[in-house]
Amino acid sequence: MVKKIKQFSGYYGCDKCTQRGMWVSGRVTYPEVENLTLHTNEIYRTEMARRQKDEAISMSPFVRLPLDMVNQFPIDYMHQACLGVTKKIITEWMRGERNVRMSAGQINQVSQRLLSLRKAIPSCFPRKPRRLEDIDRWKATELRQFAVYTGKIVLKGILADELYDHFMAFSVALSLLLSPNLAVEHNSYSSELMTFFVAKTKELYGDHFMVYNIHSMLHLAAEAMNFGTLDACSAFPFENFLGKLKRLIRSGSQPLVQVAKRYVEQANFPHIQSVATKKLKVTRPNNAFILREGKCCVAMEEREEMDESGSPKILCKVFEKSEPLFRDPCDSRLIGCFKGQSRQSVMKLIPEQQLTRTAIMVEENQEIFFLAVLHTI
Ligand SMILES: [Zn+2]
Repeated sequence: MVKKIKQFSGYYGCDKCTQRGMWVSGRVTYPEVENLTLHTNEIYRTEMARRQKDEAISMSPFVRLPLDMVNQFPIDYMHQACLGVTKKIITEWMRGERNVRMSAGQINQVSQRLLSLRKAIPSCFPRKPRRLEDIDRWKATELRQFAVYTGKIVLKGILADELYDHFMAFSVALSLLLSPNLAVEHNSYSSELMTFFVAKTKELYGDHFMVYNIHSMLHLAAEAMNFGTLDACSAFPFENFLGKLKRLIRSGSQPLVQVAKRYVEQANFPHIQSVATKKLKVTRPNNAFILREGKCCVAMEEREEMDESGSPKILCKVFEKSEPLFRDPCDSRLIGCFKGQSRQSVMKLIPEQQLTRTAIMVEENQEIFFLAVLHTI
């Protein structure tokens, strides 16, 4: 709307490429996945100038600014990948065509697994997993948790293999694009995974499923390349701040006044907020970490001893022989997913400053899974 171009439901609905949409089952779809012709700032500005002259349309006010009208209007993965694609495919597994649908029993099994993970989710996640049946009420952050972390575990062996592999391509691509140290280095691989994901979507879910939302995944790797990581150009900070504002409201009367008053109070007494400084936790579920060299550990107890730099040492249960949690579509250690054996751990003193990479730790029978927390906002 602010760019004064066709919206996503139009035939030329993608503002990143020139593909013309096709009308399938009452909606515009984008079947092409490769050799896309990308839009550029120059093309946008030339075309806009032409339309202003020929069609007398009004120009976008942004045109007056020295902006790149294509690259500086990124695709927001919170809306497109989490609230869009993730929700769409989960809904399809639950209520879609017979070839992609899970049975009521399978849905229940996945839900039970999700609930059993509640105790494993560290406090850096604002919400714990809920049942799949609540999907209509899942927030963006819950959908991200599923797409990037829990989905990899809870769907395994329940969702049909072909659908699972397809989901994993999406999940791994998203994981890479969220990691500040991987998004650029493994950008072309992430892009290949997303291309596979979109192409295979047509085969598995049908032509009518190839709407703009699915298509936009083809452009996501470029956004991470441009901004360093997807978290650098997403709507999550806005969503999180809205959550903070909402928590300032105690009753239904005059909500705006309440927010304004609490906000002024906080501005006048900033020290009240800074009391809760981050302290390393040695209790579940906040004590799992990924160490360098691909080892995982669980912090058990803080000791009096310090290392040379004055950092306290923490007694940790270290899993030295960690294996990949999965090998398809890539060795999962790349995105910090490991598997260890409960009995193969050793106790070690580790300086606190090495315990910076938080992880989700899941114990299942004799095995322990670690999934590094990748998102930063
Ligand atoms: Zn496009």
